[in-house]
Amino acid sequence: MNWLTNFVRPKIKALVGAAPKPAAPDNLWVKCPNCEQMLFHRDLEANMHVCSFCNHHLRIGPQKRLELLFDDGAFEKHPLPKTVIDPLKFRDRKRYSDRLKETQSELSESDALVIGSGRMGGKPVVAAVFNFSFMGGSMGIAVGEGIVAAARLAVDRRCPLMIFPASGGARMQEGILSLMQMPRTTLAVQELKEAGLPYIVVLTDPTTGGVTASFAMLGDIAIAEPGAVIGFAGLRVIQDTIREALPEGFQRAEYLRDHGIIDMVVHRHQLRDTLIRIFSLLGEGKPTPNLPATNSSGVQRLAGKVA
Ligand SMILES: [Zn+2]
Repeated sequence: MNWLTNFVRPKIKALVGAAPKPAAPDNLWVKCPNCEQMLFHRDLEANMHVCSFCNHHLRIGPQKRLELLFDDGAFEKHPLPKTVIDPLKFRDRKRYSDRLKETQSELSESDALVIGSGRMGGKPVVAAVFNFSFMGGSMGIAVGEGIVAAARLAVDRRCPLMIFPASGGARMQEGILSLMQMPRTTLAVQELKEAGLPYIVVLTDPTTGGVTASFAMLGDIAIAEPGAVIGFAGLRVIQDTIREALPEGFQRAEYLRDHGIIDMVVHRHQLRDTLIRIFSLLGEGKPTPNLPATNSSGVQRLAGKVA
């Protein structure tokens, strides 16, 4: 039995000991990126992902955002329109098409935008929410097409549209085609305005680049979440260009409100009620729409009007 106790048992022990112990889930506590306090995940969830120590608004994904907005958290999700994938056959360290596929399977989303419709205060509303976790919420063809589809859905249903940007700007892997989404989304917003329907933007952290330079700044009422970074170029780029230190709080929601760029900074706890109040104040559009409520191309409709 000697060889069993002296040789086999230590080997087995070594093997078992080397196996990883069942680790405690590491996502029970979240560190606040602002004050670095540890927040218990259930408390954070109950507080709408706002830090209970410093009031910092943590980033939230589209699913959570839509649940927080709609009556009883119930909404219908609309798939993004099918678009051409990787038209430029772009490649950096990896192929863009591979990068896209990886992110799609990791997040189970087709691109950086989620469209949902439901009721708020009993009235129908369409929402488009950016997903910053999806390649920095960058706007390529799919996102641009999604915003056009969301605007068209709101026009067809004669209801308000709200957009929640959280984006680093244009998707550079799609080159000029991503920049073309700036005029396209602007035209989509124009369709809503012509139908007299409310269009509200809630700027969330961060809203920058080509997104800021297009539909995000065209809301009838521009709302932002507290502390959100909102700007076109990055802080350091501006500082290096003008060779001057920028003021405290530059490009933050509160700074932009104080300087007249946006209308309101609303705490996440009050956001739903504020939006419902705004929709009721802005009304439900013109009684007789001057645009045919069909699903023909909005761009064509507008082009026809100009011609
Ligand atoms: Zn905090």
